[in-house]
Amino acid sequence: MDPTEELIWKYALQNAVKYGGKANPGNVIPKVIGIEPALKADMKSLVPKVNKAVSEVNKMSAEAQLAKLRELAPELLEKKKEEERNIFAFYGIKEGEKIRTAFPPGPEKYPHIGHAKALLLNYLLAKQYNGEFYLRFEDTNPKLVKKEFYDIMQENFRWLGVSWDKLQYASDNMQLFYDLAEKLIKDGQAYMCFCETELARQNRGKGIECACRNKTVEQNLADWKRFSSLKEGEAVLRLKIDMEHQNTTMRDPTVFRIIDVPHARLGTKFRVWPNYDFQNSIMDGYYGITHRIRSKEFEMRAELQRHIQRLLGLTVTNTYEMARFNMVGVESSGRVIREKVAKGELVGWDDPSLTTIVALRRRGFLPEAIRDFVVSTGISKAESTLTWEDLILHNRRILDNIAKRFFLVAEPVEVSIKGAPAQEVELNLNPNEKKGGRKLSSHEDFLLAKSDVSRFSDGELIRLMDCLNVRYEKGRYTFDSQEYEKFRGRGKLIVHWLPREGNLDVEVMMPDKTVVKGKGEAGVASLKVGEIIQFERFGFCRLDAVEKGKYKFWYAHK
Ligand SMILES: [Zn+2]
Repeated sequence: MDPTEELIWKYALQNAVKYGGKANPGNVIPKVIGIEPALKADMKSLVPKVNKAVSEVNKMSAEAQLAKLRELAPELLEKKKEEERNIFAFYGIKEGEKIRTAFPPGPEKYPHIGHAKALLLNYLLAKQYNGEFYLRFEDTNPKLVKKEFYDIMQENFRWLGVSWDKLQYASDNMQLFYDLAEKLIKDGQAYMCFCETELARQNRGKGIECACRNKTVEQNLADWKRFSSLKEGEAVLRLKIDMEHQNTTMRDPTVFRIIDVPHARLGTKFRVWPNYDFQNSIMDGYYGITHRIRSKEFEMRAELQRHIQRLLGLTVTNTYEMARFNMVGVESSGRVIREKVAKGELVGWDDPSLTTIVALRRRGFLPEAIRDFVVSTGISKAESTLTWEDLILHNRRILDNIAKRFFLVAEPVEVSIKGAPAQEVELNLNPNEKKGGRKLSSHEDFLLAKSDVSRFSDGELIRLMDCLNVRYEKGRYTFDSQEYEKFRGRGKLIVHWLPREGNLDVEVMMPDKTVVKGKGEAGVASLKVGEIIQFERFGFCRLDAVEKGKYKFWYAHK
């Protein structure tokens, strides 16, 4: 890149990062000329150069743009960070305003990275304004609630570094829901509907009112009182809004129905359950949740939920619906995952191909990296598709500085190097923090990785990392020299290695569930289960278990 081109790229990238991934030549040109006024003399050649750079930058993913900007001009990035430090600025919250946010999962499945985003944003929003953050289990559909997930979710969220000022169970509020429903009936805002479910559904589609709508308050109250003695499906409580409303969720929605399934916490104590919208509006409104960020699939429901809060004179929650979170090629449907686990196609909810929190953790993704990643994806209404690489970037940035280094020789091949001196090689445990720390004794017998050996070409000089230089000829290895200086300029390939004796058996579970088998250096024995290390030139791995002398790792990423 010539200096002008580099200058253009810097500002094209900065512009793209600032404006949602799309740079505009009209913004870039003045910046470039501002730095290099001489360029103004030749606009004819500058403009096409800018156009070309902008078009290339705009083809890159947001993450890639950020990474490239960090590489080319970190100073521009810092400025950007300074300006947009507060990702919640769009809310326009004033100093001293009392903020209370919540994250309300249904205890139904293993949380994944999409949940982590909503969790972290609501948590961070509360922190930003010294507000309160509630964790609330939305557990008023006994058909969906599974007992184990109350604990699993809390444990996963704590691991992500989130703590809550209050833990709530929506199902603890049944009497409150009943009282407020009764109030709505008395106010003439709700009625008991006995229409057959399918007919009611069709009527809602066509905007047709049913006869139940015109019953008296007294009649509705009497029906409400005997609700729990009815059969499942016999009646529902509906809000009286407008059967011709543009938003179909506003067409006299059902708010209570009978579900004859025992509840995970409450057993068979209740049969009449509030539906999602009612429960959610009350829990937010009654407990004073001021703000809540959630995903866009709830957008259609926001109007109804605000309506319920206003009818009852509760806090009207300022919800913001952001775009859903997609990761390329990752299965996120709970139903599909459940089926695949049952069929044995996935090892479990922590299968290495998944983005559930348990899966990410088992592979060696750090909570801080997940947090940085989800925050970096922003709070936008526009759908964005992200890749594993986008997440990996954040994890690698942290691990690079802290992970211990070791040698792993996958599918080892025994190699003898004639004339190699006996030596004690000292290697760095971590290049950033500590010099040395690993010692390997070497002489003439080595283990090399099959994938490396297969790349050697006849007559080539190869360096065994930090050890020696060796000449490969017709399947034979001859010692050349020890010093790196004698390798430089004469050879290309630097490989890792192990002495033939004294190694440990290592297995690495890869994301595609193949298992790489090999030998790891003796120092691996000092690791604790859960520790994340880097096998040099292979990738970051987390020690998952030690079984019968075998060190079993899960692969995180390159
Ligand atoms: Zn009806």
